[in-house]
Order: sequence, then structure tokens, then C-alpha cells
Amino acid sequence: MSSSLAMKDRFQESERKFGIRFNWNVLASTRLEESRLVCPTGCLYRPFFDADLPAPNGTKPEIMKVTGFPEKCSHCGTLLNRYSGVDKLNAMWRCNMCNSKNFFAGHGNESRRANEDSDIQGSHNGFEVIEYHLPDEITDSLDQDLAFAYIFIIDRYENIDNADKSKSSFRSLVQSIESALQRLPDGCLVGIISFDEAVYLHQPLDHNTTIEVSATDIMKEGTSAGKGSQWFDFNLIGVIYRKLGLTGVVADKWQNSQHLIKNLLIKLDSASRMTVIRELNDLKPKLTRNFKPVRVTGLAILVTSVLLSVSYKNFIGKSILFTSGPCTVDPGRVHSLSAKSPMRSHNAMNDIENVYTPEALKFYTAMAYVANGYSFKDAFDVITTSSKKITDILQPKERPRWSFDLFACSLDQSGIFEMKPLAQNTTGQIFLSETFFDVQFKEMLLKSIFNVLEKKYAFRGNLSVFTSDHLKVSRLISSGCNVASTFQSEKSSDKHSDFISDIVDRFDSTMKKREFTNNLSLNFLDSADTVAVFFHLNTYGSTSQVSTSSPKDAYIQFQIKYLDMSTRSWKIRQTTIQMATTMKILSFLRGSAGGDLKLVNETSHLMKERRLLESFDQKTWLILLVRLLLEKADTNIGYTDFKSIIGIFDNSVAQLIQRFKKPLKGPSHFHSIHFKTSTEDDNLLFHENFNELITYAFQIRRNPDLFSIFNTSPDETAFHHSWFLRADPNSSNLIMRPRLYLLGQTGNVEQEFPLETKYVIGKYGCFFILDCFFHIIIYKAFDPATGIGKLSLHHSRNERSNDEDLDIPMKFLSNHLSCYNRSLTPKVIISQTNHAQSRYLFSRLASEDPFEQVPQTGNSGHNSILKSLRNLFVSNSSDLTEHEQSVDRYYQYIYSLVQKFESE
Ligand SMILES: [Zn+2]
Repeated sequence: MSSSLAMKDRFQESERKFGIRFNWNVLASTRLEESRLVCPTGCLYRPFFDADLPAPNGTKPEIMKVTGFPEKCSHCGTLLNRYSGVDKLNAMWRCNMCNSKNFFAGHGNESRRANEDSDIQGSHNGFEVIEYHLPDEITDSLDQDLAFAYIFIIDRYENIDNADKSKSSFRSLVQSIESALQRLPDGCLVGIISFDEAVYLHQPLDHNTTIEVSATDIMKEGTSAGKGSQWFDFNLIGVIYRKLGLTGVVADKWQNSQHLIKNLLIKLDSASRMTVIRELNDLKPKLTRNFKPVRVTGLAILVTSVLLSVSYKNFIGKSILFTSGPCTVDPGRVHSLSAKSPMRSHNAMNDIENVYTPEALKFYTAMAYVANGYSFKDAFDVITTSSKKITDILQPKERPRWSFDLFACSLDQSGIFEMKPLAQNTTGQIFLSETFFDVQFKEMLLKSIFNVLEKKYAFRGNLSVFTSDHLKVSRLISSGCNVASTFQSEKSSDKHSDFISDIVDRFDSTMKKREFTNNLSLNFLDSADTVAVFFHLNTYGSTSQVSTSSPKDAYIQFQIKYLDMSTRSWKIRQTTIQMATTMKILSFLRGSAGGDLKLVNETSHLMKERRLLESFDQKTWLILLVRLLLEKADTNIGYTDFKSIIGIFDNSVAQLIQRFKKPLKGPSHFHSIHFKTSTEDDNLLFHENFNELITYAFQIRRNPDLFSIFNTSPDETAFHHSWFLRADPNSSNLIMRPRLYLLGQTGNVEQEFPLETKYVIGKYGCFFILDCFFHIIIYKAFDPATGIGKLSLHHSRNERSNDEDLDIPMKFLSNHLSCYNRSLTPKVIISQTNHAQSRYLFSRLASEDPFEQVPQTGNSGHNSILKSLRNLFVSNSSDLTEHEQSVDRYYQYIYSLVQKFESE
């Protein structure tokens, strides 16, 4: 018991000290062991885990910070670390990943070295995380006043019904951008691009001049006719250069950029700021009754990409798109011009009629490659050639890189599903809301703009992962762009297959190119950003094979190189960890037992089993499984059928339980928990590390933000998934299993209920708060008979009431939200008894019938009017399938799957 608790502490310690959490904290050694794990071994890695760590009494992160260049293995690129063997006498060290010997590069050149000879080993001892501040080099120098750029891309359409001056959504958008501009520091670069039927590049310093670009203009000069894939022609890019009056040359310094000369980018100072704001306020909305007018969003993205791709060396910036409807003409069209036909739904995703989605996905993916520094030619090549992958091409080094943030504020979909590669592959953000009036939109815009300057952000980052013999890197799942592996240069191409697995498994989609790399391009890295890294284990065919060679520890090194804007310098952060393997554990035990313990017998089997079980981190296992499945569901032509994805999810959970459920015999310190399903079956015995697995799984599979997407649109799903795929472990847990609080009269949390609880008890007048990460529901319970305490809410809409009554939950919310740093501002939904919006709360509560009766031994805090949930809420009819209805039924269902696997 105590030893497994200690192991759990170690999971958390590993997160606090290095920002890493594994699903299994011991690596399997044999093929049989690995096959039992069901999902690939993997971890969540949060590079800047230390940025906002409160750590009042927890383990402090231990990061060694040095100035200088790290020692790098000349064979594989691994950096010298605390686990490398050092031969001081000969000034050599042995790489713990590829076993090569290296001379210290700094030998005879003291200034280049991060470490003095005397403390080469000493300084690394105890430090898994080392951060190098790289000295400026002529070959890779950084401009000391390198500017940060913001490009605002503004959709000018406004529906005529919203055009009333006092309620204009467009005006509200312009005001939000203006207030951001007011606060931007001097020295930032700003560009304004707007679009309706054409794209307009504003040149505010030239007295309201604009360059107008239309699709027909470009096609007239270009060679092709202008439909869909005919846009994937890099000759057209030349036409756009000419149209913008630009050459294809990237300036060496921002001051020399042609964009500044032509006033396409403006450096902010007190005078130019006023001019830009005036230009912005002069923007007139284009009023329309049509919900699907000619809207050239894709062309605006293309023109922005052309503009930025030839800006200047090491360019870094954000392009922020504001749109209120779908793109209706090529390139990047997601809908026809017919206003009557509805936007594609999840059901229509793989429909043959859905002609726009696949082409649009290709187009926006190509634009994302360009934003990662690739040329238009390479980007178009990759999306039009089925065998070619972006990882086949080395990522150009100093080319401009930027991200796309997408703000879609509209009642209907805007094609965010098709545009999501723009944000996901460039580490940009997606935000959806109904209008530009929304408070959440304004807050998110300010976050998007100012977090870049104020929070710990890394720019132009590249994360690469290195492993020792026992492992290969198989997948990186995160926001960001897979790029050519670090072994793809001529020098070390032979190493590629030693370190990177090319095995395709059941978590891959057949409708997607699989990229094999250890290298992820991250244009921006927020302190919350967390990358999932999966490994393929080089396991032995059998245990007897292991006994002939001596088992070793495994090592993993994460390297992230990035631009630190606060010092205008390049930095490298390396984290190197040691992982035990089951065989290593066994050989250690054998050693201490005098070499008598056989590798293949019952006792040694149980020993390994125990260590493996103790090393299991159930929440991380589930987060990684969900990431794998979301990645699988999202293909080149649209989302796959989510029913099959849920099927794989259920099967994975059941398989894992089937493989580890067996009653644990042997030493008495084997602790197991007896889990009773409602069938009171005594056969389901788990280790305690599995105790929340099924309950979490139940919440995940019925979660409308993840898998049960049937009542949501593809745009909403893209929005939810894009956040989950980069979320830190805390946020991931909250998304997977929302939290329900009961607030007392003073605003204190009186109770937190698990969502699966049988009875939720409160009394009239109290508030329930449900935090689902993407939205937070405030629910007021009142007595419908008297109506006392009722809030003045619109019966179905979520307009914020001015009722003073909301002070209590609002105050709670502002404290609650500041508890840990959240990248996304949640939408707040206010609801109450008999209110239409209460369905959002109901859909998340998961009891068979939480409303049936009031248990007599209730909450002692409420001695008077105890009311069961049935009286506080009024339920809508539910459309859940049987095993979605309650956690008990889900247990039964999983148990039936376990039995099925048993008999196979
Ligand atoms: Zn090496």
C-alpha cells in the first residue's frame, strides 16, 4: 500500500519537477508485456511547466540556467546530460542515446562552453532540466530590436438586421481591436487587411490608400481557371507579389523590409497609432441580407500568407482573423453561394455531396505550412502529391513564421472545421462565439494579443525528442506542425530509423498521411501548452532473450530551441529523464537476491506485474488515449464516424481491465481494491491505481465536447478538440470530467458533487456551478410553486441579468478562474429552475435517476427544506443510449466487454 502511494507521489513529483507525466512509469520489456498495455506508452510534456508554478510547499522545479552552447553528440544530436558518461582525462563523453564517444566541443575554446571542465559532471548532477542562453552568433544572429507583428484580418460583412448603430456587431469588433491597439507598446508592427468580395490591404500612412485584390484579377493574370485545386499553383503566388508590389526577397532586417517602405506594416508610435486607429474607424461594414454572400476568406488568408512570407528574417507575428460567416468562393471555399442550403453537419461530413471540405482542408493546411517557414511551392507539392509529406522536406531556418488565431462570431458555422489546420498547425487559437458583443470574445482577444507580450511565451520553437536503445519516438500529438526529423540532414540520415518508429497501428487513420518524426515546429509556445509524445518500445520477443543480454535503463531527452523575446536571444531547454524497464527492475532484484532469482518463474512474473501496476497513472493514460482517438477521428476529408471512435475507446478500457483484472495472488503487500458493479460480480478485481478509470471513462465517452458530438456542429467540435490537443493535465482532467459545486449563501463552496453521484442535494435559493472548462453553468434553484428567488432571465437565451443575486456566483467565479492559469476564457451560461438552458447542466449529470427520492440521512447542513434534485431541476427527456445513462450501467457494459475478451 505505502509503496504504491509513494509511486503516485512520484507521478506528481515528475510533473512538478520536469513537467512530464507518463501513462506507465515503468517501461515494458517483452512483446507480451507491451501488448497487454493496449495503448502505446507515452507521456505529456509541458516545456514551460515552471512559468506559473505556485509551489508553496511542493517540490520546486530544479532548472539549471547557464550561458553558452551545450555539448552536442555529433552522431545523433543528443545534448550532454547528467546521465552521459564523462571521461575527464581525455576530455570526452559518451552519448547515452547512441553510445558514441564525443570530444568536448569547447576544448580549447572556453568562451563557447556552457560548462567549465571542473564542473562538467558536477553541474549536471541532479539537474534533469538545463536551460542554455545561447551567445549571439554571426550565423544565427538576432536583431536586438526585433519587432513583434500583428496582422488584423477583418471580415466586413454585417447582417442588415444587426446594423443598428447601437447594436452593431461590426462596430463592437472595431472597438475591441481599437482598445487593443491603444494598449500595444510602441515598436510593435501592425497591419490591417479587410475583405468582403475582395481583399483590401490598408496603407493608413498613405492617406487611406488600399490595394485591392480579387480572385478574378489573379486568375486573369495567372494561367489557370480558378476552381478549387487549380489554386494550388505557385505561379499564382508571383501574380499576387506583383499585385502587392513586392519582390520575393526576404529582408535581412525588419527595418529594411519592403513592407515598412510600402506602409503595409506600420511601426507603432504615438503618431502612427492614431493614424491606424482612424483607418480602422473609417472601415465601413458591408451590409447584407444574405447569410452566404460572396466572401473571400480564403483569398484573404492567401494574401496575408504571401505578404508575410517575404517580410524579413526571423519574422514572428500573429495573424488574427475575425469572421462572421463561411468562405463562399475559392480558394478555401467551405460553402456554396446558396444561402438556402445548410452548412455541412457531422452526418454530412463524409457525404459525397460535401465537395468543399476536402479541398478546403488541403488549402488551409498548405497555408499553415507556409506559416511554418515552408515555401508555397513545397506546401502545394505536399498537399497535391499523395506520397509526399511535409516531413520529407527540411524546415527552412530563418524564414518568417507566424500563427493564425481564428475568431468566428456568428450564429451559424463559419467553416472553422476546414480552417482549423491554420490555427492548429501554427499553434494559434480558435475561439467561437455568437457575436462580437460577447464579453468572452473581448477577453479572449485581449488574451490573444497581450499574453504574447506578458506571459511566458516561446517563439519560433522546435521541440525534438531523443531516446536510447529501448525506445523509438512514434508520434507527437499537440498543436504545432510536424517537420522533418532532426536526423533528416545528410549527416545523420542513417540514424533516422534507429530513433523513429514507422509502425502504423490501429490508432492511425487510413485516410491520413502518417508523418514519422521526432521534431515539432511550435511558432508560439504558451506556458500551458502540453505535447503528447508516444513511443514504440524495442521489446524482446521473450523473457529468455532478455536474460542473455544485460538489461539497461532507458533515457529520453526533450530539447526545445526557441526565441526568448524578453532577452532577444536563442535558448535551448533540455530535459533528460531516466526510465526503469521491467527487466532492469528484475535484474536489480536478482542482484540483491544473490543472483538466484530466475527471470522466468511465477515470483518474478508477479514482481514485474506489481511494479508495472504501481507505475500506472490512470488519468494520464486516459488523456493520452483521448488524444490518440481525436487525432484518428480527424482525417483529410472530414471527421470519421464518432460511433466507431467511441467503440475503440470502450474496447480499450475494457481490454486494459481484462488484462490486469486478475485477482492478484502472492505477497500480502499486493493491494487490490474490490470493485462491485451493480451486478455484484466478484470477479472484477483491480489494483487501486485503476479505481477511477471506469468513472472517468464514462464521463469522457458521453462528453459532447469530445466524442458524443451528435448535437454539436463540426465547427464546435474543431474548437473543442483544438483546445484539448494542447491542454495541460489539469485542464484536460477538467474537460474530461467537469466539476459540480454547490454554493452557500455566502458564496462558499458547501459541497462538491461528483457528476455520477446518486443524489445532489441543495435547497431553494442555492446556486449550483458546473465547470466544464469551455463553459461554466450557473444554476439558480428556486421553488417553482412560489417563484421566490427567481432571476429575471430571458426564458431561453443567455443574457446576463443585472440581478444583484448573481453577485455571489460571479464572485465565486472570478476567484475560481484565477486559481490556475487558464488559456481559454469560458462562456458563462446562466440558468435556473424550469429554464431552457438548464439542459446544459442536465446533459452532464449522470445518475440513473438522481431525482427518485431524498435519502433520509441527508446533508446535515440543511436541516429544514431538503430537496432532492428532482425538485430543484426539471429534467428534459434524455436521448442517451442505455449504457450512457448511468455509471452503474456503464460498469455493467464494460464488464460485459471484459467477459467477451475473456472468452476470445
Ligand atoms: Zn549520440
